[in-house]
Amino acid sequence: MKTIDSILQKQLVDIKSQGLYKNERVIETAQETEIDVFGKKVINFCANNYLGLANNKDIRKAAIEAIEEWGFGLGSVRFICGTQTIHKELENQISKFLRMDDTILYSSCFDANGGLFETILGPDDAIFSDELNHASIIDGIRLCKAQKNVYKNCDMDDLEQKLKESKARVKMIATDGVFSMDGTIAPVDQIVELAKKYSAITMVDDCHATGFLGKTGRGSAEYFNVLDEIDIITSTFGKALGGASGGFVSASTEIVDTLRQKSRPYLFSNSLAPALVVACQKAIELIQQNLSLINQLRDNTRYFRKKLSEKGFEIKGNDHPIVPVMIYDAKNAVKLSEMLLEKNIYVIPFSFPVVPKGEARIRVQLSSSHTKEHLDKAINAFYDCGRKLNII
Ligand code: PLP
Repeated sequence: MKTIDSILQKQLVDIKSQGLYKNERVIETAQETEIDVFGKKVINFCANNYLGLANNKDIRKAAIEAIEEWGFGLGSVRFICGTQTIHKELENQISKFLRMDDTILYSSCFDANGGLFETILGPDDAIFSDELNHASIIDGIRLCKAQKNVYKNCDMDDLEQKLKESKARVKMIATDGVFSMDGTIAPVDQIVELAKKYSAITMVDDCHATGFLGKTGRGSAEYFNVLDEIDIITSTFGKALGGASGGFVSASTEIVDTLRQKSRPYLFSNSLAPALVVACQKAIELIQQNLSLINQLRDNTRYFRKKLSEKGFEIKGNDHPIVPVMIYDAKNAVKLSEMLLEKNIYVIPFSFPVVPKGEARIRVQLSSSHTKEHLDKAINAFYDCGRKLNII
């Protein structure tokens, strides 16, 4: 065995012995509320398929027609010959939806965040980043030469203290709109207030909010009525907006134009496939035409959170369809998820390094396409299995 393989083998054994090894469960159907896993039908509570659009027939049709009209692939980055009319249309549609000057597409939001900070900020500038920000923001900031300040999760006193001390030319506050491991919505309204007070700009990663949070699905800023006050929004097509892949940055003309000139994951990576582009346009259109999807998700969220708390479970977060059920012990969390799977409830346990050590949890994710029957089945299964494991 080569040295590298024997080093990694030891690490893997260690990960397994701590109960932290993540097995990928293979689903045997399309992404839906009910899916087949291990040859049996289960109710799916672990997709980011917030609005049930992942296998929507109108979106599928739009994708198929787009392949017929615009072809399968472009074989080019955007600035050589990878920009079609549809790419500009999708960018304009998102800009209008988020009330921003302009939008730039990326292959993923991971890339969008990776290519944002170093492109527009330099050593005279400073970034103020929430400690629980997504890995892609952390990596994007690592690549950037700006001064780095990490503030405690959603702690506005800590953020203010750090802003007060900074003498930077440009100060940028960067936050997840929603912290996906905790189901908490960042206090975006308070962040906007601090930004005004200390002449900072704001960057919100709304991957777990775009399309469904706020009255019309415009995200965490709309939830707090400050949509017009955010400077930069990054987000994904890989969750509520059809769940395929792709990401974007929406911001001022100057920021987006600079990203088009210099952002490395944009300049040096292939253009988004036509089928994805047109299907994402359809997803945004459907959401705007049909607010009942958003309203149903909100009702499901409130019902499930309330009922599961009443059963005695400790639940993190608020008002968001990510419902982290706290188990703390990693092995117990795995055990509970396996028992739930036996009852046809498909959930995933999260443990270190995805969440802090000793804070393992089952993250339930709700969709507008869950029926009350689905929710009740899950609540009852949690109760039965939780009792057996002495969690409640
Ligand atoms: N930012 C946040 C907050 C996310 O949750 C995710 C996805 O997990 C990403 C960025 C990355 O998005 P994508 O899957 O489009 O790369």
